[in-house]
Amino acid sequence: MYLDKLTLKNFRNYQNVELSFSPQVNVLIGENAQGKTNLLEAIYVLAMTRSHRTSNERELLMFKQETAIISGEVERKLGKLKLELILSKKGKKAKANHLEQARLSQYIGQLNVILFAPEDLSLVKGAPSVRRKFIDMEFGQIDPHYLHNLSQYKAVLKQRNKYLKQIQAKKTTDLVLLEVLSDQLAAFGAEIVVRRLKFLAKLERYAQDIQKDITQSKEKLTFEYESSVTGVMDKTVEELYQKMRRYLTENSKKEIFQGTTLYGPHRDDVRFLINTRNVQTYGSQGQQRTTALAVKLAEIELMRDETGEYPILLLDDVLSELDGDRQTHLLKTIQNKVQTFLTTPSLSEVTRQLINDPKIFKITQGK
Ligand code: ATP
Ligand code: MG
Repeated sequence: MYLDKLTLKNFRNYQNVELSFSPQVNVLIGENAQGKTNLLEAIYVLAMTRSHRTSNERELLMFKQETAIISGEVERKLGKLKLELILSKKGKKAKANHLEQARLSQYIGQLNVILFAPEDLSLVKGAPSVRRKFIDMEFGQIDPHYLHNLSQYKAVLKQRNKYLKQIQAKKTTDLVLLEVLSDQLAAFGAEIVVRRLKFLAKLERYAQDIQKDITQSKEKLTFEYESSVTGVMDKTVEELYQKMRRYLTENSKKEIFQGTTLYGPHRDDVRFLINTRNVQTYGSQGQQRTTALAVKLAEIELMRDETGEYPILLLDDVLSELDGDRQTHLLKTIQNKVQTFLTTPSLSEVTRQLINDPKIFKITQGK
């Protein structure tokens, strides 16, 4: 798929722009603070209905404005798709082919994007929550059931944590509601973990090949799912549900004591290993960067597998962070296959030669 046209109204520093893109590589060139990242962010928000860099959606509205509109025309195998997202202080509305979408989980996934920015190094180096967020965002795009179960899970988790605190504070002694919430949590949790394992196994295979390629077979990349509930591998949803259910019952005293839910996918993590050693603790800066890149590029292939089409790729200031070989590998991988948006303060002649017929946009102060 590719994004053919994009219109922005009052989004960040873009008052009114209409752009039409190349199905291949689009290069956004500009000095600092001109609006390069803002443009990538707009595409990301159009796809995901939320920003990758802020949870405060008011920041997306141009200063002193009440409403922002992002709309785009996407070319997919099935035909043209018109997406529109209207952001205001009161909330947001999403439309696909002029029809307002009742649920955002239905809207997400129609335009698939993968974003890679320097801070993605934290995918390897950062806290478990960074990896969970990555998994949830990426898998949520390819599987609406995943997204649905996740939002249900989060809602129940919030309720359960609140209730655990009430019991802890002795505001209630009724354990029946806790049982009901544990049951629901285990049911949604099992669906989430089973899907995570399935997608991670596929992602691992692709990432392994890419890592091999970039390192000339010197490095074998593997993933390890670290679950807060032991023995989750190769289980059916039903088996896992029973298991989680038992965990929550057996550990309820501990959870009441701590006033929070200690077991479930919201506490899980994924480890990346190179030649069986944890990249987070033992990897060099370069290895960590390559691993993050391999995982992201693998995501492109996974999405194509699951949706039948390549997603679009957003690369924010990534080239400057990679050495020559890795730049070449990246640009070769995407060439002629994935629509790419690439931001950079300047384009060197060498890089330019690697990119096949790029469409270049010069950005100055949101224009
Ligand atoms: P860099 O090369 O430094 O990453 P950039 O071109 O990616 O720069 P952006 O982050 O896209 O820069 O844009 C930053 C500019 O957008 C800043 O000047 C900022 O003041 C402006 N800006 C951010 N949010 C808003 C907003 N809500 N309304 C108007 N302008 C905004
Ligand atoms: Mg930027």
